[in-house]
Parts: sequence; C-alpha cells; structure tokens
Amino acid sequence: MLLTIDETRYDDAHQRDCARVIALISAGNQHSRPGIAELLEMTSTTTSKVVGDLIARGLLVEKAGEKSGRGRPAIQIALNSGRLGATVIHISSRALRGIVVDFGGNILERQSLDIPTGANADQMTSAMRGLVESLKARLPDGMQHLGTSVSVSGVVDVQSKTWLLTSRWPNIRDFDIAAALEPVTPAVFVCRHLDAELNARTLQDPVYGTDNTLLLHWGWGIGLAYSVNGDPFIRAGGPFGEIGHWRFNLLEDRPCGCGNYGCLETAASLWALLPQMREIWPDLSEDEEVLAGQMAERPLIDMPDIQTALKLTARSLANVCRLLFPKRVIMTGPFVANSDVWQAFEMAFRAEGLIGTLDLPVLIADKSSEEFAILGAVRPLLNLGLETFIRS
Ligand SMILES: [Zn+2]
Repeated sequence: MLLTIDETRYDDAHQRDCARVIALISAGNQHSRPGIAELLEMTSTTTSKVVGDLIARGLLVEKAGEKSGRGRPAIQIALNSGRLGATVIHISSRALRGIVVDFGGNILERQSLDIPTGANADQMTSAMRGLVESLKARLPDGMQHLGTSVSVSGVVDVQSKTWLLTSRWPNIRDFDIAAALEPVTPAVFVCRHLDAELNARTLQDPVYGTDNTLLLHWGWGIGLAYSVNGDPFIRAGGPFGEIGHWRFNLLEDRPCGCGNYGCLETAASLWALLPQMREIWPDLSEDEEVLAGQMAERPLIDMPDIQTALKLTARSLANVCRLLFPKRVIMTGPFVANSDVWQAFEMAFRAEGLIGTLDLPVLIADKSSEEFAILGAVRPLLNLGLETFIRS
C-alpha cells in the first residue's frame, strides 16, 4: 500500500468520491463496478460517474474479469500506475542516485552520478538538474511527472528544503534544494534519508509500527531516526538525530566535516576509517552497499581503531536509549555486516546497561535498504501529486 489518501481534504463530493475509489484500488486489488459501489456504499450511478471520469483521465483502466461460473465475467477496474510518476534523488556514499518511480511504487529507471568531494553549490545544482532532466527523458509515454523528491543524508531542514551540511561534500552548506530544482521539476519535496527509510519500514512491517523504534545508521555518516507507534517523532521537520556530531574529550584534536572538533564521526564513521582500512585492503569500495559485502569477510576487529569506534558508538547509542527509551533499535550500515564487529558491538552495548533493572532494547542488524528509502521518499510526493491531479 503506497498511497495514503485523506478523503477529508476534499470539499467537493465528486472529488472526494474519486479519492475514495483510488484509495480502494491502490490497495492492490481489482474490483468490479458493483463491487466498488458495495464496498464504498455508493450508488451505482455515482460509481459509474466516478469510475468513468477516472478512466477518461487515464488513472484507472478496465480489464477483462476472470470467468467464474455461468454468464459474462464482470469488467474489473484497476489502477493505471503508468499514468503518474515521480523522480527521486537520493545520496549513496559520494554519488547522486536518480530513480523514476511510477504511481504503483514500481522502480522504472535508475541512474547514478558521482560527485567529487570538492563540489560547490553551483556544481551540485547543475548535477541535480542534469540528473532530473535525464530521468524525465526516460519517462514512459503518457506518464505525467509529478515532481522530484530529494532524500538527503547529513543535516537538513526539510521545511525550508535546505541542506545544511554533509560530511560527503564539505563545500555544500545551506544549500537551497528547492531553488536548485524548481526550474526542472513541477514540485520539490525534501526528506531526511533515515526518516524516509524508517517510515517505509514501519508501513511495511506492522511490528515496527508498534512502540518506539529507533533506526541507527552506522556508515559514511552516523545518524538516527525515531518513530513512536509508527509515526515520525519529529513532525516539524527540523534537523534531528545527528549523534555523529556528539563530541568526546578523547577525540578533541580531530577535525570534523561539520567544522567542529572531536565528533563521534571523526573516530567511528566510514569517512574517518576508510583511508586506514584501505592501507590494508586497497580494493575496498566507497559504496556502502558494495563495501558491506567486502567487509563481511575481513578481520576488521583486529584493528584497534575499530575497537575504539565500536565502543564509542555503543556508548552513544546507550545514551540515546536513556533519552528516548526505544523498544527496538534497527542498525544498518557496512560495519554491522561484519559478524565479529556486530558481536563485539552488542557486547559493548549490553555492558553499558540502561538504568537500574530496566531492559535494554532489542538490537536488530539489518541491511540498509535503498528500496525502503526510495519508497519512503516518494510516497508523500505521490500523495500530494494525486491530490493536485484530482482537484485539477
Ligand atoms: Zn561534526
């Protein structure tokens, strides 16, 4: 279920009925006209009018029903997911990934663009514009482009659509994403990568939608997202969860990409540790997903700096748990893909304890999934785009 349609937002009865029919059909099943009328308690006249209108506008299609018993099978009504689509840009290591997603949540196209570390705002702007233009050229015939959702790593203010800073590209500061993309796309939506990923996970797995769930990414950067009973904890859209920039006395002479000294990331992030790891294994990739596979087999735990990194990260997480008291913590990133590191991390975390006899949360090591992040990022844009489509 990709779309969450709020029918109360429509004053016009016909528009509201359109939204209700699309909500029903976007849940995945096809329905006949009489079936729609019955489920939504609408008259057959209203149902025919709404379905007819949506078919004329290309959002619904008729399909031959399967024959069962005697008589002609009823015509089935299905969603035409190729009618509307959106583009997504998300960040993976030091590359922009561009994706085309249709209205049914299917990924139709992927492109990748490496951005050099020293890139400035002008270069980032033209890279993002070029990527969106190139994705738009790949839209199937008849698909209306609803806009672009940008899923950002690092510190972001999603309300003002401003990318405040990222350790990947130190020259990118207070970058206005909306201004960069408005000339090439009808709508710009900005979200934090980790919020989008956690949101998609909680919608897909009902267990994650209960109690408090924390998602901690330990990779190129270190940051977290948090949900309460499946709802995002931070609704106002300001920065959140930047534990990678918590400072430690032990690290005080180490400069961080944020401009400060002694941040957790200076000892525990991939950007800090990868150069050292490459002295031993020069073939290690900068791409987190590739690296996760490479690191799984290497004796990382023998490196003293990895021991320090995991202890500091475990202590930071335990401190977060004393603040937010999550029921479970999902951990992603290339480090947790190494079973020795993971085991040592769990031990260090358990040794921290919580408070008194309170139980520590369950730790779940998982692959960070690009699919979750893409669907989480595109969903609000599709919902918004549908509303605009229905109203127009
Ligand atoms: Zn920092």
